[in-house]
Amino acid sequence: MSKNLDNISHGVTVLGSTGSIGISTLDVISRHSHQFHVVALTAHTQWQRMLQQCRDYNPELAVMLNNDAADQLQKAIHSEGLSVTVLAGTEGLEQAATHPRSRSVMAAIVGAAGLLPSLAAVKAGKRVLLANKEPLVMCGHIFIDEAIQSGALVLPIDSEHNAIFQCMPNGYQTGTPARGIKKILLTGSGGPFREKSKDELSSVTPAQACAHPNWVMGKKISVDSATMMNKGLELIEACWLFATTPESIQILVHPQSVIHSMVEYLDGSVLAQLGNPDMRTPIAHALAWPERIEAGVASLDLLSIGRLDFKEPDYKLFPCLHLARQAIDQGGTIPVVLNAANEVAVQSFLDGNILFTDIPVIIEKSLSDAKQQDANTIKSILNVDAKTRSFALEIVSSMAASSKRNAR
Ligand code: NAD
Ligand code: MG
Repeated sequence: MSKNLDNISHGVTVLGSTGSIGISTLDVISRHSHQFHVVALTAHTQWQRMLQQCRDYNPELAVMLNNDAADQLQKAIHSEGLSVTVLAGTEGLEQAATHPRSRSVMAAIVGAAGLLPSLAAVKAGKRVLLANKEPLVMCGHIFIDEAIQSGALVLPIDSEHNAIFQCMPNGYQTGTPARGIKKILLTGSGGPFREKSKDELSSVTPAQACAHPNWVMGKKISVDSATMMNKGLELIEACWLFATTPESIQILVHPQSVIHSMVEYLDGSVLAQLGNPDMRTPIAHALAWPERIEAGVASLDLLSIGRLDFKEPDYKLFPCLHLARQAIDQGGTIPVVLNAANEVAVQSFLDGNILFTDIPVIIEKSLSDAKQQDANTIKSILNVDAKTRSFALEIVSSMAASSKRNAR
């Protein structure tokens, strides 16, 4: 495909193209190759998968965060004679995020690592398709203010937020409270362990935590769904995206994951967005917005689903949900601490260094050590993020040492 397509087709950068959302995005784009073309792709270390994506999508730019992976990719691109520029590191990520021929940027890096590139896309005034929720948790006010200043359009990809966006009135604008709304009903499946007891939770494995009953996702968000921290992060994400407060958001456990969220209006109307649990729906919605395009998703078969259930989340069994509510209430840099401690705890659980039930303990200890500060600059936010990570890692080490002593 020729690379000078910007007049006839919509150029897209995919940040985090080798991940679950990245792959689904490329799948939707490949169904509409006359309408969209890939300008830039980025990933962390998986250069072989990136090489295949370069063969399939012929981007102008491919960026690997990791230098060795970038070298390997560069050699392979050269030996195959592909005309793709390879860059490495955070500067490369920023170039991909702000590429002049990208109209839309899919922000699908996982965790705080996505903060700077997503913010760069916002500052450059792109259409930002935001899957990466952690930057909003860390500094939603800065993110939304920058979008308002640059005119960037932030389109939510997280299925719940995309659903809420679809249920919002016409003329809704990011960062401005929508008129006539009584509350938002944020739904969640409750994760793979919603029926377990507290004792059972202490022995669950990373493989069990990553086996979500309804969604196929990356490992970090799968563990977040299992602890229900994901719903807590989404609560904070919704507050920033829809300029609302936690009190105006009700969390509902909805095990079938058919309704992706709802909006209740002052007149008693409740609008819901329904669909099969497949991220290609919100991705296609945001890529084409305000048009609609085919996403490769099967029709919803309500007759075979039969019933839709709802219940209150269990805050005792899933303390992360409560910790997230506390963090947004306290504000400032406290949500930064919540996010950083959670990222360290989740990775430590995935690495087999702590128990599943240690995750909220690490976050709680980090939060009780944290001092409330203003989160006015990105520099101060990244500083708190780094300090929290070292503190949380110390807790992990002491937990690992004491469990070794007990095993002896
Ligand atoms: P994933 O782990 O499958 O993929 C993450 C991508 O980010 C990969 O391409 C990886 O190479 C890249 N990456 C990882 N660390 C990086 C770093 N330090 N620097 C640069 N790039 C890095 O994750 P995912 O499940 O696709 O989730 C991505 C984001 O989307 C997360 O913030 C998640 O919360 C959000 N999200 C995902 C889903 C889903 O269904 N997977 C749904 C809603 C929201
Ligand atoms: Mg979600």
